[in-house]
Amino acid sequence: MANVIVVGGGPAGLSAALFAAKNGLETTVFDTDGTWMHKAHLFNYPGIGSVDGTLLVDTMRDQVDDFGVERHQGVEVTGVEAADGGFVVSTAEEEYAADYVVLATGASRDLAEDLGCDLSEDDTVDVGVNMETSVENAYATGAMVRAEEWQAVISAGDGAAAALNVLSKEKGEHYHDFDVPADAERVLGSLVDEE
Ligand SMILES: Cc1cc2nc3c(=O)[nH]c(=O)nc-3n(C[C@H](O)[C@H](O)[C@H](O)COP(=O)(O)OP(=O)(O)OC[C@H]3O[C@@H](n4cnc5c(N)ncnc54)[C@H](O)[C@@H]3O)c2cc1C
Repeated sequence: MANVIVVGGGPAGLSAALFAAKNGLETTVFDTDGTWMHKAHLFNYPGIGSVDGTLLVDTMRDQVDDFGVERHQGVEVTGVEAADGGFVVSTAEEEYAADYVVLATGASRDLAEDLGCDLSEDDTVDVGVNMETSVENAYATGAMVRAEEWQAVISAGDGAAAALNVLSKEKGEHYHDFDVPADAERVLGSLVDEE
């Protein structure tokens, strides 16, 4: 099973982690909890009328935990380097190997720059619609890829796009994370069984 390391646990990172883990990829998130969501109250997250930003992030954390994401809360990633066809992700304590890296560090682009990802003229990280950077298998998502259009739902969409692209590479064909009503009982049942 390929493994994905997500750096950052705001809407972009947690969305990437959700899609990756839900569809069978071994997924790890590192997050220093500086998400702007702690300052926000959202009236513009589709499907949700009104929600405190911290509450929404807490719900996203519970959601990824339910799908088996290994979440290192309060742990800063200090470096990401390409190595042996994958990546080495460093914290102060340890090094972790990853097949894919999803950067979701908010407006901070330092790790992407250090990894050698191309920047656009406006200093955002240069990505296509699938969020892959100029470094193969390294993705950049959320506020770091936009000069100003910063919204939670856009970041969440970026994270999903990155994870789906990883899944498409792994499966060897375009991948859709589609569920139908009959799946709800199976998925919810398995989550309840684990509690
Ligand atoms: C006052 C305010 C109000 C807002 N109101 C709204 C609103 O009403 N509606 C709306 O849609 N948006 C709103 N926003 C914007 C919204 O919060 C952002 O668009 C959204 O949080 C961006 O998500 P993200 O995942 O890209 O980055 P972030 O949410 O910033 O998450 C990035 C995460 O990465 C972590 N991180 C960074 N570097 C590292 C590292 N090296 N190692 C580990 N972790 C790292 C950070 O600590 C952080 O937790 C508001 C923002 C502010 C400031």
